[in-house]
Amino acid sequence: MGKVIAIANQKGGVGKTTTTINLGYSLATQGKKVLCIDIDPQSNMTSGFGINPASLKHTTYTVLIEDEDIRNAIIPLKDLKVSIVPSSIQLAGAEIELVPMLSREYKLKNAVNQIKDEFDYILIDCPPSLGLLTINALTAADSVIVPIQCEYYALEGLTQLMNTINLVKKSLNPELEIEGVVLTMFNARTNLSIQVVDEVKKFFKDKVYGTIIPRNIRLGEAPSFGKPISIYDPSSKGAEAYDELAVEVIERAGI
Ligand code: ADP
Ligand code: MG
Repeated sequence: MGKVIAIANQKGGVGKTTTTINLGYSLATQGKKVLCIDIDPQSNMTSGFGINPASLKHTTYTVLIEDEDIRNAIIPLKDLKVSIVPSSIQLAGAEIELVPMLSREYKLKNAVNQIKDEFDYILIDCPPSLGLLTINALTAADSVIVPIQCEYYALEGLTQLMNTINLVKKSLNPELEIEGVVLTMFNARTNLSIQVVDEVKKFFKDKVYGTIIPRNIRLGEAPSFGKPISIYDPSSKGAEAYDELAVEVIERAGI
């Protein structure tokens, strides 16, 4: 049985998508069977894996809203050894379309359950909000990885995220756990980055991964080439960091 991990933080630009793509790819290069699911209407994960979201018929939208079989939406990326379920801009309407639906919080869980035993890791890239799409991810997930950017206001909004996770635990998914916290865009030359690391460690203690993702220009460039960092620039600091993170994730998750 695979482990389903939601990559969540309602703040935008903290590294959710970058972490989903590059952790997913690094897990695959370490021999794991990986599925990455895009539930953000912005489709950055989809395009970051080199797939044009505009041309797709089968996406997380059709899976969530039209009850399409998730198998129809899975794209195996042969060169990358990763499979993805892409999203599309249609998903922007899903937050509202889901509202009147029966068991609206369980749509993704029901879909993912059908293919869970075919993968070791299923990563879900969440949108920057705590709406029904993120709730679907948290309900489908065994655990959550929270990326936190080493910047001003890093901890702002985290209480809200923790409240949402606790609410989901109480009512929809009692087994949900925090898998880990990953610090991103670390700049060793600023005191601010160092302070943020200290603060986050005080708050999340041993949940914080030892691997810290540095701010790395190559990581910012890779998505526009539709490639994970380890293919775009395998010798970059960013590639090294995500490979290291994957080792740690495997160690902690035990899969
Ligand atoms: P989110 O999915 O949380 O909105 P992204 O992963 O899309 O965040 O990252 C936001 C922006 O920052 C993107 O342009 C991405 O390429 C860039 N980025 C992410 N991580 C890094 C990093 N470690 N170093 C440099 N740029 C990064
Ligand atoms: Mg994103």
